[in-house]
Amino acid sequence: MTNNRPEKKLSHRGKTFIHPSWLAKALAGDRHCDYSLHLQANYKIPKTDRDFDLLAYKSKHQAAIERTVKLLISQGYQVHIENANSFWVNSGNAVISGTPDIIAIKGDDVIIIDNKTGKPRACDQEQVKLYMALIVSVKLHGITKIPLGKVIYDNYSPVVIFPEEITEEFRARARNLVKMLKSTTIPLPTPSYRECQWCPVAHVCSHKMEDMATGTAEWL
Ligand code: SF4
Repeated sequence: MTNNRPEKKLSHRGKTFIHPSWLAKALAGDRHCDYSLHLQANYKIPKTDRDFDLLAYKSKHQAAIERTVKLLISQGYQVHIENANSFWVNSGNAVISGTPDIIAIKGDDVIIIDNKTGKPRACDQEQVKLYMALIVSVKLHGITKIPLGKVIYDNYSPVVIFPEEITEEFRARARNLVKMLKSTTIPLPTPSYRECQWCPVAHVCSHKMEDMATGTAEWL
């Protein structure tokens, strides 16, 4: 299984790069193939022309952010958006870098917000939890206490995440994943039809499971 692994053909990033949204999917149990995550974090993955309308998504997302910002300003918050919120957290030979959509501050009241356009998913909340835990490490906008988190959806009720939800158990799970990604030991691929269909490195992976196991149970 190891002689045709794709990392042999890919350029190494030189440093492990981790986006919180990648970790979030693993934390939410949506991504089980550690090999996929390790490949994405450590190698330069060629772009794919997947059927995803990035421009349409961006304009919908931007409109949602603008609506949220307008409301927050009317409530007296000082609002920081997108690029102003970019952070870079070092962990050994790895960097975790992300950009929360909105950080709103009114005195001691600090909220970190991500706007999402689709249906609520557990990984959306895990991503905001990672932002909440990480931004205090870099004291982004002077924030030193874990803020409140919020995921705002276009067509669903917002989900509020309290600082107490950044538990030691949550940190330990994130830490274990980062440890796996920083390791020079490459995990074995664990192909599964469902996961391979949505895997961001499927186009370079020779282990992609193309078909669902299908058959007939004569005894039924
Ligand atoms: S295509 Fe499947 S086996 Fe290959 S990295 Fe992705 S999830 Fe793992």
